This record gives sequence, structure tokens and C-alpha cells, in this order.
Amino acid sequence: MIKFATPGVQGLRPYQPGKPIEELEREYGIKNAIKLASNENPLGPSPQVLEAVQGSLKDIARYPDGNGFVLKKALAQKHHVDMDMITLGNGSNDVLELIARTFVTQAQSVIFSEHAFVVYPMVTQAIGARPIVTSAKNWGHDLSAMQAAICDDTRLIFIANPNNPTGTWVDKSSLKAFLEGVPESVLVVVDEAYFEYAFENPNYPNSLEWLSEFPNLIVTRTFSKAYGLAGLRVGYSISHADVAHLVNRVRQPFNVNSIALVAATAALDDSEYLKKSIALNRAGMQQMRQAFDKMGLSYIPSLGNFLAVDVDDGAKIYELLLRQGVITRPIGGGMPQYLRVSIGLPSENEIFLQALRKVF
Ligand SMILES: *Cc1c(COP(=O)(O)O)cnc(C)c1O
Repeated sequence: MIKFATPGVQGLRPYQPGKPIEELEREYGIKNAIKLASNENPLGPSPQVLEAVQGSLKDIARYPDGNGFVLKKALAQKHHVDMDMITLGNGSNDVLELIARTFVTQAQSVIFSEHAFVVYPMVTQAIGARPIVTSAKNWGHDLSAMQAAICDDTRLIFIANPNNPTGTWVDKSSLKAFLEGVPESVLVVVDEAYFEYAFENPNYPNSLEWLSEFPNLIVTRTFSKAYGLAGLRVGYSISHADVAHLVNRVRQPFNVNSIALVAATAALDDSEYLKKSIALNRAGMQQMRQAFDKMGLSYIPSLGNFLAVDVDDGAKIYELLLRQGVITRPIGGGMPQYLRVSIGLPSENEIFLQALRKVF
């Protein structure tokens, strides 16, 4: 059958998600495994969100609000933007794909960096567009190289800020200068999935304030990380309203389900949970970095809720950690020596660090 698939799909490999806890426990016959593999919020959902979700269950026989009015209104208020600048997605991955499908054809190219988020090559390949992969600089995005790579046929650039799996980030003045040099015909997606963890850094950009200046700028955010809703799948973009209207033509009418809409709206309202999540991450990051320093392991400084640590052989250490009931993520690809570990609860971080010491 493969010859009947589109050329892009023929060259596509399925996304490898982090191993679920249940699967590890079943395969290895162990209990109490921990997962620090998918950059999820270790706090679990906010009680306020759980209550709202329970209240919404009685409505599941109805289709959700296809326009996501209540959530968009809350987001618009929070970010001081117009509602028609917001596009909701079934996770921000959905929005990333919608943007590519709205603007890029097979005859065009998409630029992203080496070691950047895996979804960018996936969506590019799926539509059969030409990927232009720029070399990383100190594991992060090299914006000058990305600028220089723009061709006549380039329609889209993906920038993850901070980037996953490296945790690297681009600062305010570099990103602003970059945007100034990109022609209006090239859309720039700034993927801010870890914004809530990163924004306290004084040099981290507030890219939303540039939207009026750059009609080709699209900022994406998610409820999957600091808001603790990865399982419900809600993300969004904020862009010029013209861009949002175009993406909306491609979007499936009910791409965000009714429970997710209610949960995300409730999550926005729970600032205590968000604060707690950010503080927990800050402390856990410190705990991990100190331990790595003591063990003499080098790691890439990260503004996200995860660290890429150099363990010589990521795949091997990943396997050995699995046997001790700890799920991490070998980065692989061009970074075979690295393991990515998500920041967990202090106790989970300690279990991981103990297991790592044992492995060494
Ligand atoms: C986790 C992550 C996302 C978010 O994905 P969702 O589909 O919203 O769960 C987007 N971009 C990057 C770089 C990520 O790491």
C-alpha cells in the first residue's frame, strides 16, 4: 500500500511518544514506576479544574462550542488581545499543523533548526514541503543561519522558544532583530509551549507585544505544560486576525472538545496552581542541576521544565533507568549522548538521581 500514500507520507516515521507508566510496569513486572519523560506537570491537575470538569460531564452528549467563545474570551482578556486573533487547537501541535497546512504547499520550503521540536519536521514532511534544517549553535537556534536560509520559496519558519529537547532559548533583542529581517511573505511561528516557566527571565521576549508590528508573526502557547492539562489537549495561537481567519478555514469545527474547553478556562482562573507549578519547577531545576554538578555531568541550561544531560550514551542509560522504574527520554538523532529528563516532584527527582548514580 505504501506506494499509494503521498510522497511526503511515504518518508514519514510515526512520532515516538514517551513510554507510558503502565506499559513499563507491565513489560518489566515492576511497580511504582515514575515518568519524567514528557515534560508534563508533576503536580497533577488543579483541584479547581477537576471540579469544573466534573460539572461539565453532563453536557458531553452535545457538540462543543466550535468557536470556543468562553475560553477565547478569557484568553483575550488575559493577553490583552482581540478574540479574533486567537485560534484554538487540540493541543498546540494541532495549531502548528493547521498553520503549515494553511500556508505551505509542496512547492515551498519550511525552515527550522537542527535539534528543534520533532513536530516541525513531521508537519513539513506530511504536506510534502521541503524542509530546510539550519545548524544549531551551542545546541540552540542560530537565528542568523535561519535568516540566511530564507529562499524565494520559503513560506514558514518554526522557532521553539524555549526549545524542546534542548531547553535553549533566544533573547528579546535577537528575536526582534530576526523578525525585522524576515519578509512579510514568510510566516514566523514562535512556539512558546514553556512560556510560563521562561517569562521571569528578564531577557526572555514578550513576543505578543510585537504582533501589531509583524503581521507574519504567530505565537503559540499550550495548556499541556505549566497548566497541567496535557491529557485533555488544548493549545492556541495568537496572531494577526487575518492569519487566524485563514487558519480557521482549515480547522475542523470541533477540534477542541467540551471538557477541554471548560478545563482550560478554569485553569486560567487558578493562578495559585500556576504559581505553585512554576515554583516547584524552579526548585526541581536547582535540585537536578546541583546533583549533576556533583556527579560531574554536563547539561544544557534550560528555561523549560526539563534538562538535556550528557550521559555519553543516552539510549543505554535510558534502558538502564527503565529497569529501575524510571522513564526518561533518550534524545537520539544528532544528540545520541543526551538524555532528556523532565523536572518532577522533589521526591521523583531524588528517585531519578539515585537511579542515575546507581547506573554509573
Ligand atoms: C510540549 C510542546 C508543545 C505542546 O504540545 P501540545 O500539543 O500543546 O501538548 C509544543 N511545542 C513544544 C516545543 C513542546 O515541547
